[in-house]
Amino acid sequence: MLKMHRRCPYCGQDLMPEPGFYFGAMYFSYAINVALMFTFGVGFEVLFHPNNILFTLASIFVPTVLVSPWNFRISRAIMLYVLGGIKRM
Ligand SMILES: [Zn+2]
Repeated sequence: MLKMHRRCPYCGQDLMPEPGFYFGAMYFSYAINVALMFTFGVGFEVLFHPNNILFTLASIFVPTVLVSPWNFRISRAIMLYVLGGIKRM
């Protein structure tokens, strides 16, 4: 999951602008996680009205863990677009 090209194989864009560049991506990851947890939790409550708090907690954490690889990569991509000097084509 952590493997990544040093440079884009298509256009040569530097994907490691500086050491520790992707530490900032955890802020994007955190924001995405909070949004997903809120959406899953409220959505489950509204749709199913569970009687047990454990079902609600599971509805929040299980999908969040399942989408964590996607979240990891999309956070890095957002970091590159926001602070990595990548220009949209
Ligand atoms: Zn490229």
